Amino acid sequence: MRVTITKSRVRSILTRTSGYLKTVTSHSMQPYRGCTFGNSLCGVGCYVQHNHWLTRGAEWGSFLEVRTNAPEAYRSQYQKERRWARRARGGFSIFLSSSTDPFLPQEKTFGITGRLLEAMNESPPDVLIIQTHTHLVNAYSDLYLQLARQCELRFHISIESDRDRLPGLPPPASSVEKRFEAAAALRAAGLRVVITVSPLLPISEPRGFFERIAQVADGVVIDHFIGGDGTPDGSRTKATKLPAAMARFDPQTTDDKYLERTVRVALEVMPGRVGVNVDGFAGRFLPVR
Ligand code: SF4
Repeated sequence: MRVTITKSRVRSILTRTSGYLKTVTSHSMQPYRGCTFGNSLCGVGCYVQHNHWLTRGAEWGSFLEVRTNAPEAYRSQYQKERRWARRARGGFSIFLSSSTDPFLPQEKTFGITGRLLEAMNESPPDVLIIQTHTHLVNAYSDLYLQLARQCELRFHISIESDRDRLPGLPPPASSVEKRFEAAAALRAAGLRVVITVSPLLPISEPRGFFERIAQVADGVVIDHFIGGDGTPDGSRTKATKLPAAMARFDPQTTDDKYLERTVRVALEVMPGRVGVNVDGFAGRFLPVR
């Protein structure tokens, strides 16, 4: 798909969270509007494509707006938003990002996320969660080490399955292997890493998958599109090609019983390090029984 790239200047970059994200962080931050991973595996069921305010009617994955002054906007909002968050939400915490990926291939050209990380090093939040689907996250290792000294820093790396391909769907933007390597490198540098199995896709060897995660991450978060896509019955995801592709591979993976079965295996392998749905994203793990 041809991608149209535009540039914009924004009045604000820190957005006060609402909905499910409200229990995770006080703010979210999107260096870009749109996501060029929309044409890859994660884009098929991506919840953001249903946000018409954000897509403005364009096909998901077909546009990218580069927010060129995002770091300046962060600096100008910092004091006011930090004050508000500490008073109203018990802390100033940022989710980077919830409706794009901070490390799209275009980041190499535009460097918006890199400059935002520099701005956050000057004026740190209390907590920063960096959420990504790609090994390109490792581009800014030096900035992460500085940031980790100033705030609670946590990486969420999405690895939804041990399989790279689901028949009939596009490949992932970054292979399972490369994402595992990226997680291992971040953790070896002493940074906190959580693997987000979100949305949970068919897994060939669940035990082996979680054993591998246990080696490269501090924790794992598992969520199924039913109960995890912002609708009670997964209807947003059911409107996409994802459930049919999952069912073709294994019909037992499209209901929430699959989540229960998978969580049981994860708990056996990683007791005390497993979170489910939004609780997991917020860093709340299931207790050890
Ligand atoms: S990286 Fe995130 S925002 Fe982008 S298409 Fe994938 S799931 Fe959606």
